[in-house]
Amino acid sequence: MAKKGILVDMNYCTGCHACEVACKQENQFPVGICGIKIHELIMEEGLNTDRVHFDYYPHFTTHCNLCASRISSGEDTEPACCKHCGTFSLHYGDIEDLVKMMETMPRAVLHSPL
Ligand code: SF4
Ligand code: SF4
Repeated sequence: MAKKGILVDMNYCTGCHACEVACKQENQFPVGICGIKIHELIMEEGLNTDRVHFDYYPHFTTHCNLCASRISSGEDTEPACCKHCGTFSLHYGDIEDLVKMMETMPRAVLHSPL
């Protein structure tokens, strides 16, 4: 079977945390444990402005198993975090296909834990 992974398109992540909630619910993780964590980065836009820029970075932890039981049981074809991401920032699939998708995405990171 082809190696699987999740491609994160960071251009569209809004920091809504729905993926974290979905992961915790799917895996019944206790408080403080999750398969995905959203990091927030706040940057000043320039020297002569008060404006700031918010950026969000989904980061997978060592607790992520790509929703192995959810997928293998046939309950769904994609992990809970991908299913519940409203901006379609998380793409699940074969690594080879995800690498091809990356070529058209300026800010993408590939996650492949297994
Ligand atoms: S793939 Fe499953 S275990 Fe991994 S972060 Fe997403 S919901 Fe959590
Ligand atoms: S659900 Fe999608 S948009 Fe929301 S924080 Fe997670 S990756 Fe970003």
